[in-house]
Amino acid sequence: MTKSELNKYKDVLEAKHAEMMQLIRNRDGIAIERNSDSLDEVQQATERELAIRNLDRDSNLLRKVDTALRRMADGDFGVCLHCEVDINAKRLAAVPWAAFCIRCQEIADLSYGDSAANRDASWVEAAQSKGARRPAYA
Ligand SMILES: [Zn+2]
Repeated sequence: MTKSELNKYKDVLEAKHAEMMQLIRNRDGIAIERNSDSLDEVQQATERELAIRNLDRDSNLLRKVDTALRRMADGDFGVCLHCEVDINAKRLAAVPWAAFCIRCQEIADLSYGDSAANRDASWVEAAQSKGARRPAYA
């Protein structure tokens, strides 16, 4: 990957990071204001649940974006965490925070089902616990 390609992804990731931080911060504000609302309990519970789900999704994405930025700093950006091949450029353009090549992502999707938050975490752990990337003596 060329330096200018890297910089392009860095810009996208940093913009995404800022966007997610803003979303998460704004939602905190909404949650506090809602105390004075006259919504009934069921509606409040539903909204709270939705807010939590969105917050989960956004923090999950934020974590992926930050991890990708860290990989960039480490010089590992664009390399599949699992099989260590270069992630396809088209995939990176669509999902710059992708941690896996499309093949490994598909296997992960099949193995871990739809619980995206847990799936990604356990898949990354599995990939990292192989310990193949950084030998202890390095
Ligand atoms: Zn892979």
